[in-house]
Amino acid sequence: MVPSELCSGLDRNTANYVPLSPIQFLERSALVYPDKVAVRHGERAIAYREFESRCRRFASALAQRGICRGDTVAVIAPNVPALLEAHYAVPALGAVLNALNHRLDARGIAFCLEHGQAKALITDSEFAPAVGEALRILGRELMVIDIDDPLAAEPRTRLGKLTYEELLAEGDPSFAWPGPRDEWDSMCLLYTSGTTGDPKGVVYHHRGAYLNALGNALAFGLRPDSVYLWTLPMFHCSGWTYTWAVTAVGGTHVCLRRVDPALIFQALRDHHVTHLCAAPIVLNLLVHAPPHARQALDRVVEVATGGAAPPSAVIEAMERMGFRVTHLYGLTESYGPATLCAWQEAWSGMSLTERARMMSRQGVPMPTLARVMVADSETHVPVVRDGVSMGELMLRGNTLMKGYLRNERATAAAFRGGWYHTGDLGVWHADGYVEIKDRSKDVIISGGENISSLEVEECLYRHPQVMEAAVVARPDAQWGETPCAFVTLKPHAAATTADDIIAWCREHLAHFKVPRSVVFGPLPKTSTGKIQKFLLREQARAL
Ligand code: ADP
Repeated sequence: MVPSELCSGLDRNTANYVPLSPIQFLERSALVYPDKVAVRHGERAIAYREFESRCRRFASALAQRGICRGDTVAVIAPNVPALLEAHYAVPALGAVLNALNHRLDARGIAFCLEHGQAKALITDSEFAPAVGEALRILGRELMVIDIDDPLAAEPRTRLGKLTYEELLAEGDPSFAWPGPRDEWDSMCLLYTSGTTGDPKGVVYHHRGAYLNALGNALAFGLRPDSVYLWTLPMFHCSGWTYTWAVTAVGGTHVCLRRVDPALIFQALRDHHVTHLCAAPIVLNLLVHAPPHARQALDRVVEVATGGAAPPSAVIEAMERMGFRVTHLYGLTESYGPATLCAWQEAWSGMSLTERARMMSRQGVPMPTLARVMVADSETHVPVVRDGVSMGELMLRGNTLMKGYLRNERATAAAFRGGWYHTGDLGVWHADGYVEIKDRSKDVIISGGENISSLEVEECLYRHPQVMEAAVVARPDAQWGETPCAFVTLKPHAAATTADDIIAWCREHLAHFKVPRSVVFGPLPKTSTGKIQKFLLREQARAL
């Protein structure tokens, strides 16, 4: 019998095939845990039954006001319930959620609203000055809804005619939302930071969001009794898909408007938080929090970090404080986490320092990603797994974006050769773990040799007086480029000079990798905790 005959009559039908969508997680958790706390915000606790009915009201009110399948709804807000609810209500209509970075300036906001063709904007009162200006630049009518959060800073300026809670009051709590027609339907639009030109609009589909959320729930060990603290911005890759992952297990979301170590430690204690995600910079804030802001942990708290390379010294310090660190790597284009440094039992016998070095590698594919490889950017020939040969990290699977909105050329370039090209350069170790050495645009080329800025930073973070460090290329007449270090010392650090730092590096690095110049002071960062190396490069050029 030929295979086609074997399978004849075994077709998809509505019983055996339903489009994958994370909206299903909310419907199920509301059914299974109706009285359990789904969301906390300040003193407020929202049970799963209410969480679902608020989302249904939200979707129904948007529909009544003309939002249809395929329309874009933008939101500018910190980690508040309205933004979490938007991750269900908007895609449940078949519409597209465009969560915007609230640190963008007016011009940046206007660009995204225009490029994404937003039909509605839901905006937190705290950002009214920049958003008001953006609306003037945009110069067209838009439905504007204000989130009037009692926990927002004063004055709570309104820009529209309706508040978010008034909108919900218009809606039907048992609205039968249509959901996606197909799991490939667009559901989120997320703009990259645009450090190398205009931001690109990354488009997610329901299938990818569903899979990546489940992959994260599995990899990070979320369970129904998990309590997840929202330190990572929800606008960043849909909160690395934890907006859906936490709901998938019926856990509790704890909202947090501001990343402040004292507030984080307080929330950990008051709400018995079990899990949180944060960029390495935020972990460093916790490590160096002043004594009055700190609280001792009475149990192990799971923290996942990524978005930038966590120096092993930071992992080590977090583990000393009682956190268990999971290292994730990914991009906006991969729905956040695409790889993780999966724990191996054999590492338990290692010293903390050795273990932290193993864990600072970016690792292996998430359970829901098909393939990872380190290969030549053009030929796609994989590098030797020797921990030394460099190549570009490439990804393949169901948790990669659909593409960039209205940018066919960038989409084709990103997916050339049937792989997603991350633009990150790294090595492949014999145990199958990948390790990133640099972003291709951050690598320093000195006298024809490549210097990994991450390797020099790793060395600087191990200096006893250094709190933060970043290394960039500085143009040099003789060498082409030389490494230039920007360093922030710890709060009460002993007097440390540029010569001390250079001497430390000479002791621990090959001499051609040692920074020729050292600049002390605070480092410029994005709201997602990335050091803005392009600003440092400009500064280095002007030295
Ligand atoms: P943007 O490109 O706007 O900065 P993304 O979140 O998409 O925002 O950034 C993805 C990039 O962040 C990756 O290409 C990589 O360079 C860096 N990155 C993310 N996670 C890690 C990690 N664990 N280790 C090293 N670099 C990381």
